[in-house]
Amino acid sequence: MRTREFGGTGRKVSIIGQGTWAMKNNGRDALKLGIELGMTHIDTAEMYTGAEELIGQVIRNRRKEIFLVSKVVPSNASYKGTLLACDASLKRLNTDYIDVYLLHWWSGSHPIAETMRAMEELVAAGKIRHIGVSNLDIDRLKRAQRALTREKIACNQVLYHLRSRGIEHRLMPYCESHNIAVVGYSPFGQGHFLLGSSKQAKALSVIAHRHGKTPRQVALNFLTRRESLFAIPKASNVDHVRENAGGTGWQLTDEDVQLIDSVFPPSKDEPLDMI
Ligand code: NAP
Repeated sequence: MRTREFGGTGRKVSIIGQGTWAMKNNGRDALKLGIELGMTHIDTAEMYTGAEELIGQVIRNRRKEIFLVSKVVPSNASYKGTLLACDASLKRLNTDYIDVYLLHWWSGSHPIAETMRAMEELVAAGKIRHIGVSNLDIDRLKRAQRALTREKIACNQVLYHLRSRGIEHRLMPYCESHNIAVVGYSPFGQGHFLLGSSKQAKALSVIAHRHGKTPRQVALNFLTRRESLFAIPKASNVDHVRENAGGTGWQLTDEDVQLIDSVFPPSKDEPLDMI
């Protein structure tokens, strides 16, 4: 599994990670295999009931290999609530630090300054290594960064798959110019990978055939084609994990990229909504 620097953190992180939304105990073997295959970048959240506990069990004895990301839910993101939520996640994850702690989406409930003050305190206490955000548009990203006094936003985790490429217009270039990692979630459209026309399916299978890969591997390769990008597919099935691990380590040609652009044109620049 290839790694690349995660935003400005100085950490090398697996380009393809493992999502854990709705992952239950039956995801245990998949998660373990993913780690064996180098997908050590693991994404979770306090909101993903049961996932943090499962991860805590799986990464016991190998914490140092793992790049662990978790998130505070906005309704908890007051100053005190963020501190408490982080402690609760650490306990469930059975670890004493989280690599990047994110605000899950913009908080209508608590001022961003409060959340970010708590985040900086968590960094100072060694409970989190870096601060990130999720589902933020450029304006909110700027406001989150301005609320920080010492730290820099490490990543913005956003929806990104072949049929949802709206971030490519402005958000991705903005993040790249500020050295903020762009972590694309739901890379398979939450399991609805190819609801599109058969033209799309055909194009992916032509490209897959050229490289001896599968259409999903082509999608993951495309979604991580730039140095700022990471993808975090969720797979509870070990065969799916094996397939996803093959999404990097080879390169699409310009012709492949043009074909993808022609059948999955980037959607217009839309405001980000929480998914
Ligand atoms: P996804 O990764 O796009 O799709 C997951 C679905 O695809 C599952 O049904 C999985 O099946 C299936 N799948 C995975 N690999 C496959 C393969 N190789 N072949 C066939 N099917 C495959 O959807 P997601 O879970 O929404 O997104 C991924 C992660 O992003 C989440 O788990 C979560 O960590 C994160 N996320 C973050 C936010 C946010 O607001 N920040 C929002 C949504 C998601 P099996 O499980 O049966 O293998």
